[in-house]
Parts: sequence; structure tokens; C-alpha cells
Amino acid sequence: MNNGSAFGFGVRSRLPGRQGRTGVISTPHGPIRTPAFIAVGTKATVKSLLPASVAELGAQAVLANAYHLYLQPGPDVVEQAGGLGSFMNWPGPTFTDSGGFQVMSLGVGFKKVLAMNVDGRQADDVIAPGKNRLATVDDDGVTFKSHLDGSTHRFSPEISMRIQHQLGADIIFAFDECTTLMNTRGYQERSVARTHAWAQRCLAEHRRLTAERPGRPYQALFAVVQGAQYEDLRRKATQDLLAWADNGTGFDGFGIGGALEKENLGTIVRWVCEELPDAMPRHLLGISEPDDMFTAIENGADTFDCVSPSRVARNGSIYTSRGRINITNARFKRDFGPLDDDCDCHTCGHYTRAYVHHLFRAKEMLSATLATIHNERFVVRLVDRIRCSIDEGTFEELRAQFLGRYYAAAGRAGV
Ligand SMILES: [Zn+2]
Repeated sequence: MNNGSAFGFGVRSRLPGRQGRTGVISTPHGPIRTPAFIAVGTKATVKSLLPASVAELGAQAVLANAYHLYLQPGPDVVEQAGGLGSFMNWPGPTFTDSGGFQVMSLGVGFKKVLAMNVDGRQADDVIAPGKNRLATVDDDGVTFKSHLDGSTHRFSPEISMRIQHQLGADIIFAFDECTTLMNTRGYQERSVARTHAWAQRCLAEHRRLTAERPGRPYQALFAVVQGAQYEDLRRKATQDLLAWADNGTGFDGFGIGGALEKENLGTIVRWVCEELPDAMPRHLLGISEPDDMFTAIENGADTFDCVSPSRVARNGSIYTSRGRINITNARFKRDFGPLDDDCDCHTCGHYTRAYVHHLFRAKEMLSATLATIHNERFVVRLVDRIRCSIDEGTFEELRAQFLGRYYAAAGRAGV
């Protein structure tokens, strides 16, 4: 660690024979017990929830997005407000991602499914059908058009660092190039080399900005490992980034980014984590389903974020211990039980399926709030239970019991 201030990570217990572990990340705004699910607040809000509700449902930290906050309201506004936490009235730990994923994925039209739309085609330059190119990557950075008004902007490693320093989150990420599984092996190699060069530039700018603002809480910088589905690229990328961290003045942690599919998620996380020393916290960028969470944690992820629980909640899709249900379905019209019998959230404690069904049918705003509280609590609590199971040596039992129930019933529940 390169700060001597409030950032650090310590391992508490381990999953025997695996990379998985529990621990605590210390930040200037409090600790994060890991593994932890980080709630996504893209535009400095977890959509439809008051921060008090986010805290009550057990979320330990919030992750916002540099691209969105750069375009609106502008990082200078957030800085003037006292940083991301003050601006949004969230007193706990905060993360920002670098904006690279949004700049490039919105730019090529794949949106959030960048790594998922694989149809076997590979090319150096891939773009979604029917989309105009809105982002162009070169060795110095990325030029892109705003998805809000079409205006032209440029991100570089230095610009991303300046924006993230203005936003002031406790944990920030190096600016990286996001590729897709459709890019060729040759392109992936060049991209990893470019991401390394950018990481070095991020680190230099991060050090300069940190030195310039000695009175501020230290912001921890995480490198991002790319390399798609190639073991040699992932391992070498990790080693090369770690070489800069090893002298005590480098990165504070690692993000695992880029092209991950369900089938290779655990393997890729394991390759990266096997290369990393204990003291380096590892963040997995963007995963979704309960089985993916067990897999990621088992293979060494300490924190991860996912927009899915809140996004699907707003469409009436509800996580339950017996699989996902769609609460707008007619069969819930007179169902006066809670969303999930097994849930301890505010929604399940005070409202019925019939009422939430009614709110969605009537297009009432409270529908989004009640459904989001429940889905976020569902995921936070699941990860809390996984953490306890590692501490207590019951990880495999929990996984078999939880996933057996969740997926066995998913078909019957009518997703
Ligand atoms: Zn609930």
C-alpha cells in the first residue's frame, strides 16, 4: 500500500484448497467485510432508493460510474459538493469505475451485454448490427460521442484519473480498454499491451494528483486485468501490473474486467487470483446470477458489483429463494404472502405480493422502490451468508442447499 493512511486489506479466513477467502477492506469511510456485494449507484443514486434504505438493507458500499457523472452533472459539481459520498448523502465507502466500459460499450452499441453477444464471429473491429460507431480507440485514449446529446468527448488515462479524483471515491479504477470475445487473439494481445501502458499512465497521474492534495482522504487505485479467455494473457497481465505494485508505490488492488462468460467465469477469476498476493483485494466487475456469485467468491473475488438486481426489479422481476418470479403475473393478484417467505427485508416485512403486483399494474413509482429494496437485500444477504459459510467451514453445504432450491424451483416459479 502506498499511503500510510486508512486503506488496507487483511484476510480473515480461507476456503480450503481454493482461492476464496474472507477479509476486511479498510477505507477512509469505514470497513467493507468481504466477500461483499457492492450496490450500483451509476449516477450517484441507487435508483429509486434513499441512501438510508440502501444502508438498512445491508449494502456496505456503493459504486458509481465516472462516464455518467462526467457527462452529468460534471465532476466539478461533485467535487464542489465535497465528493461523491457527500453529494449523494452516502456516508459509507464508495467506488467509481473508470468509465472505460461505458465509453467503449455504449460507443459500439453493445451496451451492457458487451461480452455476452457471442455468435462465433471474430474480428479486429466489431460493432453491433445497425449501430453507428460512437467510440474510437487509439493508443492515447478514446474519442466518443455522448449518449445524451451526441457531443464529442475524449477520455485518456490521465483524464479518467482527474475525473475520478474530482469524484473522490475511496476506491477508483485504472482506465482500460474493454474488448469483447469477438475480437481476435491478435487484437486481444495488442489491447492488453495498450491497457498496460494506460495503467502505467494512470498510476503516474494518480500519484501526481495524490501528492497535490495531501489534505484529502487517500483514494485507492485498482488496476484492471484484461486478456479475455486466454490464460497466458490473463496471467501475464496480472504479473506485469503486479510488478509495478510490488515496490510499495503501485496499485492498491485489482479489478478483473472484460470478456467473461458463465462457463469460464470461475476459471478466469482463478487464473488472476493465483497470481496475486494475499494483501491485494480483488474486484470483479459486473456479474449477475446467484450461481455466478458462488463461483466468483470460490475462486477469489472479494468484492463485485452488479446492476442486475435493481434493473430487473424495476421490471417486476423478483429474486426469491425458489428462483425468480415476475410479480406482474396475474396469479399474484390475490397473493397476500410476502415476496419471499425467507426474506427479512423491509418490503417483505410490511407488504404483500398482491400489493406490489397492484403497484406495478398501476405503474406507481413505489413499485420500483419496494422491488429494488427486496432484490438488493436478497443479493446482499446471500453474499453475507456465503461470507459466514467460509468463516464457519460450511461453504459447500450452503452452495448445495441454496442453489438446489433456487434453480430446482426456477422453472415452476414462472420466470
Ligand atoms: Zn424481501
